[in-house]
Parts: sequence; C-alpha cells; structure tokens
Amino acid sequence: MRIGFGYDVHRLEHGRKFILCGVEIPCPFGPDGHSDADVAVHALMDAMLGALALGDIGKLFPDTDQKYHNADSVQLLQRVYELVTRQGYVLGNADVTIVLQSPRIAPFVEDMRHRLSKALSVEVGKISVKATTEEKMGFTGDYSGIAAYAVVLLKLTGVRLPPA
Ligand code: MG
Repeated sequence: MRIGFGYDVHRLEHGRKFILCGVEIPCPFGPDGHSDADVAVHALMDAMLGALALGDIGKLFPDTDQKYHNADSVQLLQRVYELVTRQGYVLGNADVTIVLQSPRIAPFVEDMRHRLSKALSVEVGKISVKATTEEKMGFTGDYSGIAAYAVVLLKLTGVRLPPA
C-alpha cells in the first residue's frame, strides 16, 4: 500500500463559478484560478501523485499552458487516476477535507462523493468528503480563500500496464 497527501488553496473572487468535487454550488463568489479552480480535486490529485512519487499537478498540468485554461478538474483527475492504475494500483480510499467559511456545503457533500466515485469508477464508500470552517480566523475565515486537504491510500493489484 502507498499513502499520499495533498493540499491546495485558491483565492476567492466575486463572479467566479464555485465548483467543488465537480459539483457547482450556487454562490456569488468562487475560487479563482487558471482551471475551474476545483480546490478539492486539486488536493486529491496531488495526494494520488504523492502516493506514487509522481510529482504534482503543477508539473503534469502547468498553469502556463493554455490547454488547461478553464479545464474541468474532474477530467484531469481521471487522467491522474489512469496513471495510478497503469502502475498497478487502485484506490483503497480517499478522504477530502474542504476548509471554508461559507457557503455551507453540507447539502452538496453526497453529490460530490457520487461525482468522484463515478469519475474514478470506484465505490462511493471509498470516498469521503467533509467540510469545516476555521471559526472566522485566517484567510478562510475572512473569505479571502478556500483550502482543501486530501489523503489517499492506494493498493497494489500487481497488474501493471505499459505507459499510454
Ligand atoms: Mg489548485
């Protein structure tokens, strides 16, 4: 088994779409970024890449590349997971924590888990998504940013495929 950890932060800006784990949340502001700025999926991808010492998403999908302008992060996650499975690993489980002051995302958490489970073709029980605030302190507390943490466990299946 291999364990990986990921962390990401995005600035919040008015007029940006608020997409978390591939689910759009109605909100007048959202995370700013080159891609769709899905901070939770970015942390999750970095956790997967970290587990196999494959670098990070900045290396794989550079934000200087126009290809990734407004990119759908869930599609990028599928590409990362393909790298993982080609190395002979499958997801054991993933645990994602999103840190933000508002909006309340609890009503969307089940949708997020299902969205990720479908994208990765793994059971929804293997994916945890949760949210917390930082009690109005710091950059998440004053609405200037949103953060996400992710931990994954990857299990070796022994079936290693040649690179795509
Ligand atoms: Mg990011």
